[in-house]
Amino acid sequence: MPLYDYRCQNGHQFEARHGFDDPAPACPDCGEANVQRIITSAPAQMLGMLASPGKNATKEQLRAKWAEETPKLREKLVSKLGEETVNKYAPTLNTKYD
Ligand SMILES: [Zn+2]
Repeated sequence: MPLYDYRCQNGHQFEARHGFDDPAPACPDCGEANVQRIITSAPAQMLGMLASPGKNATKEQLRAKWAEETPKLREKLVSKLGEETVNKYAPTLNTKYD
């Protein structure tokens, strides 16, 4: 079964493994039933950017957006937090969206 990323209304993020047609599970942290599936395991900062082309965006568009935005975001984070912190807490910024 596929593994899905979710975020509940209260901001908790969690992963759940279930069948494609099964309803979304409730949040394990607070029991909130109103949860939203997240597209990728990208860091939270990226979610808004990935969503911006609209829900009809193709995988290619998302990938292009990712390739364009990730280095910028990473640069910003590195200047704020330092190389080591970014590598430690946001390792996905070092990899390509694929
Ligand atoms: Zn929650």
